[in-house]
Amino acid sequence: MFSKILIANRGEIALRIQRACRELGIKTVAVHSTADADAMHVRLADEAVCIGPPSARDSYLNVAAILSAATITGADAIHPGYGFLSENADFADTVEAHGLAFIGPKASHIRMMGDKITAKTTMRALGVPLVPGSDGALPDLETARSVAEEVGYPVLIKAAAGGGGRGMKVAHEASELEEAWSVARTEARAAFGNDEVYLEKYLDRPRHIELQVLADTHGNVVHFGERDCSLQRRHQKLVEEAGSPVLTAEQRDAIGATVTDALTKLGYRNAGTLEFLYQDGQFCFIEMNTRLQVEHPVTEMVCGVDLVREQIRIAAGQRLGYTQADITFSGHAIECRINAENPETFAPNPGTITVFHAPGGLGVRMDSAIYAGYRVPPYYDSMIAKLIVHAPTRAEAIARMQRALDEFVIEGVQTVIPLHRKILANPEFQRGEYTIHWLEKFVAAQ
Ligand code: ADP
Repeated sequence: MFSKILIANRGEIALRIQRACRELGIKTVAVHSTADADAMHVRLADEAVCIGPPSARDSYLNVAAILSAATITGADAIHPGYGFLSENADFADTVEAHGLAFIGPKASHIRMMGDKITAKTTMRALGVPLVPGSDGALPDLETARSVAEEVGYPVLIKAAAGGGGRGMKVAHEASELEEAWSVARTEARAAFGNDEVYLEKYLDRPRHIELQVLADTHGNVVHFGERDCSLQRRHQKLVEEAGSPVLTAEQRDAIGATVTDALTKLGYRNAGTLEFLYQDGQFCFIEMNTRLQVEHPVTEMVCGVDLVREQIRIAAGQRLGYTQADITFSGHAIECRINAENPETFAPNPGTITVFHAPGGLGVRMDSAIYAGYRVPPYYDSMIAKLIVHAPTRAEAIARMQRALDEFVIEGVQTVIPLHRKILANPEFQRGEYTIHWLEKFVAAQ
């Protein structure tokens, strides 16, 4: 087992990883920008190293500074968390070239899944069902036109290098295709320096359902069921549940078997998530995330597993020590992302948290690095907390989340808590009747 892990991240996820390390008896090294000198992940770490100025490019994305910090502190592994360098294959390569363990997949698999076209061709070859669309990259507008006619409008033009919902444009009919094509490419070039695009049928009422997988280095692969992440605004998830309100245990077992079979053949390692759109009983793969995800706690609550602990054990070469048959699902879990944003305009609202009272009680979990007096910096993601509840049934989980949201006090910055209260009180949400388009419409109607 490792003796010291450097955590190349900040905020709640840095703290989350630190907690797992502490329980495993592993020392932690925090890295931080000058803007995060007072952050909780820095205060609670065994050692901390300042790696640069506030801008993420100069600090949390600064590979040379992070590797120097690992070297001078004598860390033997690096956990990248999510975001920042977590899906940067060159970083994973560099970490291993320095003789450190990268707590994540092989660099080759990160690279493969980072290109969504390669990801789709690979998954198709491994027997995973896809969204109908182009067979790889679109060479020109004419090809886009003929593929669109074939699969039928509406269609989506998506960037091969896409992420965070950028470089994605819908064409509802043929007359909109040229514009979608050029806007998606321009956005992709600006955001990712790669204007390669592909085409997918635009599904009109799918749910976003994803499967959590773990694979050790001894050929054991298991899945931990699904998360329903359909509640999104601008392709950003806001509320997540495990399990999905619409999936049966048989459907979960079937898609789970497809996914673990594919990743076994691939020789995948560590944690991963396959994202699907689910409509009319069909799963369509859209992408794979080769990292721990923001919403991993809902899976942890229903499966009783510590996914970060498992990631660390796998990276240290240990065996999972259990099989698919040992994994059971108990009750229902919901997560609300608490962003420091205006709950109506969603404008980021950084500032100092003056009053802070966290909810608690049976089945309530708060993953956050904030405290009273903490200054939310303007430089990073606006998510400041994740509120997670677990209860025997979905109805009880909803009641528990409503109760926890009512207890939650944050003053000094605006948050999306009022919006969460409205979502949780909505009869359609309570019946589980929503698609990926539901939240946008709900917000527009407020
Ligand atoms: P990103 O990597 O930018 O997040 P994804 O491919 O994961 O891109 O898609 C993000 C979201 O966009 C999905 O969760 C879904 O809401 C929507 N989306 C993606 N592909 C389709 C599609 N073919 N039809 C309808 N919605 C889609």
